[in-house]
Amino acid sequence: MNRHIRAVIEKYNLETKGMTRDEKMRLAMEALRANVAHLECAIYAIGERRLELAAKALGLSSGDIETEWIHECEDERNPTGQCVYNGFDDPCWDECLFCGEPNERK
Ligand SMILES: [Zn+2]
Repeated sequence: MNRHIRAVIEKYNLETKGMTRDEKMRLAMEALRANVAHLECAIYAIGERRLELAAKALGLSSGDIETEWIHECEDERNPTGQCVYNGFDDPCWDECLFCGEPNERK
């Protein structure tokens, strides 16, 4: 087992000594939730940064482009790697701003 994980488990066992099983579970769940929220924030920030880079490559502002992060974009100029759309000019997302593919695919 990874020594970092072992250290966390040892600390957890030490700090939850005397607690009931339910109390321990609640504590563990709280810690997991906090970490998932932290990770989600980090992923969101990375996504925003990638959108900024894509907007810059297109000469647009980052508020002008949107993506669902579900389609890989074939166009090498696209720094997000995902198809992106201009929801204002193209509300149905029919044309990726880089490769031209629609968001709706069969
Ligand atoms: Zn694309």
